[in-house]
Amino acid sequence: MSDVEAPPSRNPGEPVFVIPCDSYEKDLLTGKIGEAMQAIGLTPLMLNGKRIAVKPNLVIRKDPSIAATTNPVFLDAFLSWLESFCEPKDLVLAESSGGPYTEASLRAIYRECGIQRAVETHSIRLNYDVSSKSVSAPSGKACRQFDLITPIEEADVIFNLSKLKSHSLTRMSGAVKNTFGCIPGLTKFEYHARFPKNDLFQSMLVDLSDLLHSSRTVIDLQDAIIGMEGNGPTAGTPRKIGVVLCSRNPFCLDRIAEAILGCPGETGMLKEASERGFCPERADEVVSLGADWQEYVLSDFKAPDSRVSLSSALSWLPNLFGGKVYAWFEPRPVIRKKTCVGCGECARSCPVHTITMVPDRKGKRHARINPDSCIRCFCCQELCPFRSIDIRKNPVLKGLAALRR
Ligand code: SF4
Ligand code: SF4
Repeated sequence: MSDVEAPPSRNPGEPVFVIPCDSYEKDLLTGKIGEAMQAIGLTPLMLNGKRIAVKPNLVIRKDPSIAATTNPVFLDAFLSWLESFCEPKDLVLAESSGGPYTEASLRAIYRECGIQRAVETHSIRLNYDVSSKSVSAPSGKACRQFDLITPIEEADVIFNLSKLKSHSLTRMSGAVKNTFGCIPGLTKFEYHARFPKNDLFQSMLVDLSDLLHSSRTVIDLQDAIIGMEGNGPTAGTPRKIGVVLCSRNPFCLDRIAEAILGCPGETGMLKEASERGFCPERADEVVSLGADWQEYVLSDFKAPDSRVSLSSALSWLPNLFGGKVYAWFEPRPVIRKKTCVGCGECARSCPVHTITMVPDRKGKRHARINPDSCIRCFCCQELCPFRSIDIRKNPVLKGLAALRR
């Protein structure tokens, strides 16, 4: 593809529109979303008669108040704007959450995340087709073949509605990470097993985002009104951020989001995207429109425990120790036996099958992790419905990090 034909997602000069917004008020949000779409150059002609898929973040079956999933009011406001703006041929909400991708699980997710109620007054249909299609990604660097859920693969236009959160594996979850929910259910764990090294996994995420964005029109709209800090994407705590971000380049958008979270340059997928020329290396090099994002930077945004400080402490260990010893230093998932109910969700989600269910002395079942084969993907922590998996930092590493402060 020549430079002239490069899609917006590969253009590091693609603007990001920043909308100040500190509450979920539907009418206010509807107006602001319309303003942002106009600012990034979206027209009804680009959408009329098209098959449109709306891709929210429904990573886990939880009440929206915990801020792990797309806020229903945000979705309601977005749909109100969309329906007043264009006349699509088809409009479908499509997402593959963290667990199994079945009609029953989709029904439960839509209900418990407040999505079913949010769409009641809209013409959008909720997807129950659990088929998927294999798609080749000739430009992929880490991965050249992806399984995509059918409504996403068939869409002419995708609205990628991400939620800004911390993330135990990838540091942050935003526009780029949200596209991982286009991979069907448990197949996602196969990707974790195929790309066990974090940098390779994040390179694969760039391939996936690039594939989706370069093969159709994708608009990225990010809910950063209330995000999640700490042990995201599901076990952290809600945190007010106060903005909505919009762009046609997910890498530029996330570059600004990353800076807002106070961790500029720490996200592997954005480093990879910069190296490929898809976005600038620094947030202040991104073209931003609307409000000044620098006013929203959070210097005290809590990082996930998995990050103790691979960057601060490990980085100054001699290279000699960077190999085998590294694994010993890495934070690892630990089962909190007191609250573990033995549901087995973590064992089902572990891509390398290193979790077993065992009885304790009283016969109560709980999960046990074999640390030797754990690849530190943190899928188990992400998907434990009872927040019974902690990320334990190596005490030596904690000490080293403290010494450096
Ligand atoms: S750790 Fe969580 S997911 Fe695993 S068995 Fe216990 S409660 Fe279930
Ligand atoms: S135990 Fe948890 S962190 Fe380790 S490989 Fe399995 S799912 Fe990933």
